[in-house]
Amino acid sequence: MRIGFDVDGVLANFTLAFTKILHDVNPGCPITEDQGKVLGWNYEEFLPVTKEDIRNAWKIIDGTTDFWISLKPLINLNPVVDFVNKNRIKHDFYFITQRGGTGGKTAVYQTVSWLQAQGFINPLVIETSIKGDAVKLLGIDYYIDDRDKNCWDVVVKNAECQVYCPDYPYNKNTSYPIKKVDSVIDYINQIILDLE
Ligand SMILES: [Mg+2]
Repeated sequence: MRIGFDVDGVLANFTLAFTKILHDVNPGCPITEDQGKVLGWNYEEFLPVTKEDIRNAWKIIDGTTDFWISLKPLINLNPVVDFVNKNRIKHDFYFITQRGGTGGKTAVYQTVSWLQAQGFINPLVIETSIKGDAVKLLGIDYYIDDRDKNCWDVVVKNAECQVYCPDYPYNKNTSYPIKKVDSVIDYINQIILDLE
C-alpha cells in the first residue's frame, strides 16, 4: 500500500505561523492557531487584513530562514507517527507538499527536517503543485489534503485512490463530492480498519 499526506493544514499548523506574521504586518490581525477559525482560502475575507498585508506577509516568509521548520504540529501527531513508523517497511508513505522556497534550506529539506523532528523516520517528501498527477505517478492508494481542489484533482485523476479531506470550515461548502474526516487521526484510523 502507498499512503500519502499533504503537510500544511493536515500535519503542520500553517495558520498559526501565518497569522503571527500577519499580526507583525498589521497588529489589528489576531493570531490564531485554531483551524476552525479559518473560514476560507482568502484571509482578507474573514480577517481584518488587506490583500497587501497578505502579500507583505508572504514577502517576509520568502526571506525567513527555514520558515517551514518553525511550524508547530497542527495536533498531537503521535498516533500518526506511530502508525507510519511501525508500518514503514510494509507500506510506503509520501508527504506531498506545495511549499515554496524561503531563506535558508530548500523547502524539501526543511520539510524532511520538520517531519523528522516530529518523530517520522526517513520521511519521503515530494514538492509539487500538481498533486493529482503526483499521486497518479506514485501509484498512491490513500491520500489526505486539506484543500478541496487538490482532493478533487486527485480523485479525478486516480479513480482507485481513497481521498480524504479534513472537515474544516473552509471545506464546509465545497461543491466537490469528497470524503471528509475530522482530522488526520481519523484518516489513519480508516486506513487501519481497511487493512484489517
Ligand atoms: Mg494543505
